[in-house]
Amino acid sequence: MIKLKEVSKSYGPTVALHTVDLSIHGERTTVLIGPSGCGKSTLLRLIIGLIQPDTGCAAINGITVSPGILLQLRQRMGYVIQEGGLFPHLTVRRNVTLMALYLGWEKQRIQNRLNELIELTRFPGDRLDCYPLELSGGQRQRVSLMRALMLDPDVLLFDEPLAALDPMIRSELQEDLKRIFKTLKKTVVLVTHDLSEAGYFGDRIVLLKEGRIVQAGTLAELVRTPAEPFVTRFINAQRSFLEI
Ligand code: ADP
Repeated sequence: MIKLKEVSKSYGPTVALHTVDLSIHGERTTVLIGPSGCGKSTLLRLIIGLIQPDTGCAAINGITVSPGILLQLRQRMGYVIQEGGLFPHLTVRRNVTLMALYLGWEKQRIQNRLNELIELTRFPGDRLDCYPLELSGGQRQRVSLMRALMLDPDVLLFDEPLAALDPMIRSELQEDLKRIFKTLKKTVVLVTHDLSEAGYFGDRIVLLKEGRIVQAGTLAELVRTPAEPFVTRFINAQRSFLEI
C-alpha cells in the first residue's frame, strides 16, 4: 500500500537517508525503529509529503506523493506527532473538526463523527470546549488522535506519539491505540525508539541505522535471525524491557 522506491534525503552534508526501498503493507502496523538520528522521522515525513526526497519517490496506493496532490493525500492520511501538534488557540472541538469544516461537511455529520471519535478514543466529552493547554498530556494525545481520524483516512502515521507521557498514562494509551488499530484495520506506520513498544504494536518492525534499513521482519525474526551484529546489539541494549 505504501511504497518507497530508491528514496534518499540529505540535509546539506548530512545524509538522513541513503537509498531506501520499502513496501509497507495495508491494514497492518509497521514500526520504524532505530537509534536517534537514524532517519525514522525523515522516512515518515517523506511518506506524508512534508519533505521531498532528493531521489526516488514514495507512493500511497499507487499514487506518487508530490506537491501537487498534497491536500488530496493529507485527507487520506492522519498524522500524530510527539507533542500532539494541536493549535493552542483553538478548542479541542475546533482542532478536531477544522479539516471537516474546511471541506464543507454538514453540521450534523461533523457532530456524529465527533461523537464516534469521543467514544473510540475515550476522550471525556465534557472537555470538548477546553483549549489544549487545559488538558493533560494524555488527553492532548487523544485529541491529536481524534483529529488524525476525523476524515477516516486509510493511513495513520505516528511519530513517537507516546514518548513525552509518564509511564502510567503511556501504558493506558498504548492499550487504547492497539484496540483502535485492531478495530479500524488502518495502515499504521509508527516511529519509536523503544523496542518494547515496537514489539507491542508492530506486525512488522523496520530497524534503521545511519539512514539505512538494516532489517525488516517480526520481532521474533529480528531476535532469532539477525541480519547483522548491530541488530542483536540493538535488541540486547533494551532486552531487560522485553518479555520474549
Ligand atoms: P530520527 O527520527 O531517527 O531521530 P531524523 O530523521 O529526525 O532521525 O534525522 C536523521 C538525520 O537527519 C539526523 O542526523 C538529523 O540531525 C538530520 N536532520 C533531520 N532533519 C533535519 C533538518 N531539517 N535539517 C538538518 N538536518 C536534519
